[in-house]
Amino acid sequence: MESSPRDRLQTASRIGALGFVALWLLSARLQSAIPFWLPFAILAAMEVEFVVRGIRDRRADEEVEPVPNARRLPGADDADLGWVETLDDEGQPTLVPAAPRPPRTTRGPALLMLVVAIGLFAYAYRIDRDAGWSSVASAEQSRAEERFTAEAARIAGRDVRVYCDDAYSFTGVGSDAAGVAFISRGLSYLEPTICRSLYRLAFEGELGQRDEAAFAITVLAHEATHLRGIRNEAETECYALQEGVTLGRRLGLDEETARALMESQRARDLSDASVARLDYRLPEGCTDGGRLDLSPNDDRFP
Ligand SMILES: [Zn+2]
Repeated sequence: MESSPRDRLQTASRIGALGFVALWLLSARLQSAIPFWLPFAILAAMEVEFVVRGIRDRRADEEVEPVPNARRLPGADDADLGWVETLDDEGQPTLVPAAPRPPRTTRGPALLMLVVAIGLFAYAYRIDRDAGWSSVASAEQSRAEERFTAEAARIAGRDVRVYCDDAYSFTGVGSDAAGVAFISRGLSYLEPTICRSLYRLAFEGELGQRDEAAFAITVLAHEATHLRGIRNEAETECYALQEGVTLGRRLGLDEETARALMESQRARDLSDASVARLDYRLPEGCTDGGRLDLSPNDDRFP
């Protein structure tokens, strides 16, 4: 059976839409210009339109089709299909139309499309959340940097400056650092994804993904601790987990959540310890009442 123009159009639009989504995933510029859900909304609207039009067409077909007469013999228009020979009430052979063939369904491709679209949607949602810093207005970015700077200065106990490293000049893939600190210059750069998470907390009042929030708080506290003059990575991380509780609270979390985030980050640090980040392995004394406990008089840690 030849595919109808409608089928071909549908296939072409699906391929076009998927192609666009793929482009969107690859292009940072497209991502900042077009919200991630837009291609999916267009795709969904197109599918709905196809379904509605399909139903309408089928209804129109049904209205035109003549009601078959049980005693009619096949005529010239009937071709050679769809008639069944049977016996009528008087035992005479007669031809009746066969039950109509069920309409050909195209559910297979549509279902596959749905699965692919949902998968891509989830992936695009993730990308969007990560790449979101560039989509924050630049005035807002400056306001956020001011805020991060103030928090870092409080932890460092001196005048420092925190920037979001938009261009990944110091952070990101390759440097394996979500943040860097230049101790003598009192300067720190944070990866954009870290800034986005902190911004979400402090300015949008949302936690977002817990692991990411915990990590972002830890990174800011970690760099600020370096700026206090501490170079040893393990010690710095141990202090950062403790400072992170206060920092989290100041950024809008309640005490319980802030503490739970730092506890989960500590668990991740410990499980990371044997892999690749040896320098960051939490040291002896990074325990309640230990050498590195910033508040040895309470029984909570971090
Ligand atoms: Zn460090």
